[in-house]
Amino acid sequence: MEIQITKTTTPKAKPGADVKLGFGNYFTDHMLIMNYDEGEGWHDARIVPYGPIALDPAAMCLHYGQEVFEGMKAYKTPDGGVQLFRPEKNMERLNVSNERLCIPLIDEAFCVEAIKKLVDIDRDWIPEAPGTSLYIRPFIFAIDPHVGVHPAKHLMFVVILSPVGAYYPQGINPVDIYVEQKYVRAVKGGMGFTKTAGNYAASLKAQDEAEKLGYTQVLWLDGVDRKYIEEVGTMNVFFKIGDEIITPELSGSILSGITRMSCIELLKSKGYKVTERKISVQELFDAHENGELKEAFGTGTAAVISPIGTFEWNGKKITVADGGIGEVSQMLYDTITGIQCGKIKDEYNWVQKI
Ligand SMILES: *Cc1c(COP(=O)(O)O)cnc(C)c1O
Repeated sequence: MEIQITKTTTPKAKPGADVKLGFGNYFTDHMLIMNYDEGEGWHDARIVPYGPIALDPAAMCLHYGQEVFEGMKAYKTPDGGVQLFRPEKNMERLNVSNERLCIPLIDEAFCVEAIKKLVDIDRDWIPEAPGTSLYIRPFIFAIDPHVGVHPAKHLMFVVILSPVGAYYPQGINPVDIYVEQKYVRAVKGGMGFTKTAGNYAASLKAQDEAEKLGYTQVLWLDGVDRKYIEEVGTMNVFFKIGDEIITPELSGSILSGITRMSCIELLKSKGYKVTERKISVQELFDAHENGELKEAFGTGTAAVISPIGTFEWNGKKITVADGGIGEVSQMLYDTITGIQCGKIKDEYNWVQKI
């Protein structure tokens, strides 16, 4: 498929080097759009000036949430180059989400190429300060003007780009986590393993209540027994207990993070013992009691590695690694961000240059 390109004639002013970018506040000059119509498949890939999209008020995504998305980043390298981190994994996962939500599959290789084209056109928007990057948000949504519940026959695939700052301006900082006991995010058989808007809609209330109590994010437990650890708001989670590094197994209700996958591969290649298994919150608190809980951290594209300083569960609060940054967390952060921005040699074949 050819990609039609229409460049803007009114480029926006880019945020200056002194501006605090934050996360998801600024958007570049262009976006990628592609349509799906039954009988025609995905067609009309085009890069156009960034701007509003007209939707029929009956568009099905607005009523029934048939939507999926991805999150990835582009980085400027010291030599002025631009690279992506494992973009093929994001497109593979997008199709996993598509399959679950009855959304027609995309051509993964084509979409990686189309995203590269878009990033290349807006490459001057990629910030260069340490820890900054260009966040890439691909998403697909149903546009049939029809108020009735069935899979859509007409959809749009859109990619927008946002220059983002260092997630933690002073480098990595431990976060405080509230173990959620009232609400659940997902259950086996549901959509927990997909990146879809509905999972986040389900999470807002818990997140809001935890923030009011002074916590950064919630730790979700399984929806059935309310015992086993699943993941943190937008991150997968790891624990170092003794000399074993444990992360919850992909049970069907947990998102399969690309940062999670990269941490597992990296840790194994460096000789660490990594186990994917069920772990209960009781086991976590017992390990702390016995002095065996050495580190806890979250993994995700936005913050990469987030050390966890405290957990609150059942009215009990524990502090991990003296509220500091553990050795493994620091090593993973340095290695992965180093590979992403081209400061460390990529021995794993993870980056793709544009
Ligand atoms: C995106 C996401 C993650 C992290 O996945 P990465 O591919 O590492 O960015 C973890 N949990 C949830 C619920 C997510 O949506």
